[in-house]
Amino acid sequence: MFLSLVSGSSGNCSLISDGKTTLLVDCGLSAKKLEEALLKAKVNPCDISAMLITHEHSDHIKGAGIVSRKYNLPVFATLKTHEYMDLGKIDNRNIKYITPDIDFEIGTIGVRPFSIPHDAADPVGYNFFMGEKKLSLATDIGNMTDDLMDSLKGSLAVLLESNHDVDMLKNGRYPAVLKRRILSDIGHLSNIDAAKTVLELVKSGTKHIMLGHLSNENNTPTAAYTTTKQYLEENGVILDKDATLSVAARFEVSCFR
Ligand SMILES: [Zn+2]
Ligand SMILES: [Zn+2]
Repeated sequence: MFLSLVSGSSGNCSLISDGKTTLLVDCGLSAKKLEEALLKAKVNPCDISAMLITHEHSDHIKGAGIVSRKYNLPVFATLKTHEYMDLGKIDNRNIKYITPDIDFEIGTIGVRPFSIPHDAADPVGYNFFMGEKKLSLATDIGNMTDDLMDSLKGSLAVLLESNHDVDMLKNGRYPAVLKRRILSDIGHLSNIDAAKTVLELVKSGTKHIMLGHLSNENNTPTAAYTTTKQYLEENGVILDKDATLSVAARFEVSCFR
């Protein structure tokens, strides 16, 4: 099971489970909203083994401290991310350090964090290994690098950022400094850059793509979906035969198609 519980600049939280081990990636929502989302996903919060954090921005950690305390959950993050995020007081035993490119296991799921280019202390995306299957999550990506592409290749399913439509952002009402930050190499991935990434992933064998972390101001689910769909089709990919494509909803549980 690979689900997006909430996704977007307002909050991010995903869930990965192989039926034995269940992990949360990020917790950018309140404990109450998390519990509502888990109920919809038919997951018992007490079955969650751990929380993995990508980086310290509030849309990824808003509820992490409270949820860790309430369910006694370990919080895995890089040393710098732990230093920069404020989770309030959590049990020392629940502070777990990870290092990019160093694999570890939580229960029955293999995990490999990998570095991503984003304006945070030491941000990561994640690969998950369940038997033969590799699943990946990569959002908050300023630009696609070769290393990042290598980390994602070979994944059966990828949750990938498709943050903004470049024209909507450039013509929108954000202040210039914020526009520059988002467009920079350590900001967020545009719809067209997501589309190019998805094409490469599908060519390398990825079967399921979910676009996520959409900007509320500078994107729409239709714009994100259509940009990638058209780009794939222009390049000979037949959707639903070669690969499935979906968009993670902002406040709804979203499954891969
Ligand atoms: Zn961020
Ligand atoms: Zn974010």
